[in-house]
Amino acid sequence: MPRNHRKLNPEELQKAASAPVLRLEGIDSPLIIESIRLLRKEREYFVHVRSEDGAEGISVTNSQVEYLYPILNRRVIPYFIGKDARGLEAHLFELYRYRSNYKLQGLALWCPVAWVEFALLDMIGRVVGKSIGQLLGQVIRRKVPFYVASGRRDSTPEQEVDYLLKLIDETDAKAVKFRVGGRMSRNMDAMPKRTERLIPLTRKRLGDQIAIHADSNSSYGPAKAIEIGRMLEDIDAVYFEEPCPFDHLQDTKTVADALSIPVSGGEQEYSQWRFQWMIQNRGVDIVQPDLHYYGGFIRSTRVARMAAVAGLPTTVHISGGFGFIYMLHFASYTPDVGLYQEYKRGVEKYGGWFDSPPEVKNGTITVPQGPGVGIRDIEDLLKGAESVEGLS
Ligand SMILES: [Mg+2]
Repeated sequence: MPRNHRKLNPEELQKAASAPVLRLEGIDSPLIIESIRLLRKEREYFVHVRSEDGAEGISVTNSQVEYLYPILNRRVIPYFIGKDARGLEAHLFELYRYRSNYKLQGLALWCPVAWVEFALLDMIGRVVGKSIGQLLGQVIRRKVPFYVASGRRDSTPEQEVDYLLKLIDETDAKAVKFRVGGRMSRNMDAMPKRTERLIPLTRKRLGDQIAIHADSNSSYGPAKAIEIGRMLEDIDAVYFEEPCPFDHLQDTKTVADALSIPVSGGEQEYSQWRFQWMIQNRGVDIVQPDLHYYGGFIRSTRVARMAAVAGLPTTVHISGGFGFIYMLHFASYTPDVGLYQEYKRGVEKYGGWFDSPPEVKNGTITVPQGPGVGIRDIEDLLKGAESVEGLS
């Protein structure tokens, strides 16, 4: 992107990041956390929280829970028991210090924190009758434009475009994302010349009306990334995601500096300081914290506020089948989320959990209504669920 942005000072970014996020008006008495439990029902995992007064909240985890549950049960849940949920913002830092949890920092720590945070926000929202968006800001959006993501690399260019057309047909999407490169592959492609053939073919066969995003999942060094980026410029792509190894911030910046289309990144990032570096130095043009991997709404909102100071959008990365629901809530109150949010399907599976299922129509999805995350009936949903204790 053109580098004509103004010089930012770090204090300005830190001030944006440290402003309170959670709105506690109307919650006058303590909400003491009595229990937090990990539950499994069929292949879905839930975190259920309950206050001493019997208020309840629930979250749906991503699949990392299958190996991260001991960290949840041993290092995260014990911190929260007996604490006032209204202090959630401050708890995030104290939890990070608790029993030297900071040594685990990465998605192994922040995913379990996110699952508890989502459930606590759901509980607080149910207590005061506010949606997540109303708890964390002003609801400014009820319909969210989305791109449908392919997620494949096993396809030839022709098969991939056929698949994208099928996804567009099935979801009424106005935008798509496909994968380029070989995934963390040191410049190797998934199959010879797949990327070079796929990029022009998508524009040719999808036409000019479909917005195109491409993700290399850390495939390239800067020279090759710029070469692929030029091809994406030629088809007027919306953005180029993770062109270089995700934690090589300088290489990513080199690519962002060179290209006229935006470079996006941050899905594996876990450090507020490094997000600050990316924003301060324009290491990316669009920041992409993952609501699970980065530890929840509050931390991701802090990143979005820093990005807003720099005039950069925050387009969250999605993990977990249910993750698009959390994305919808984030988009409901975050002023600049970029043009399109990711959708990998899921309304068919999860829509029935809500009073009115999110509606996928004409390239947009509606944000769930109702308090908290909007799930209609926790008790009904958890019928038959079993507790996952292990190593606690
Ligand atoms: Mg990605």
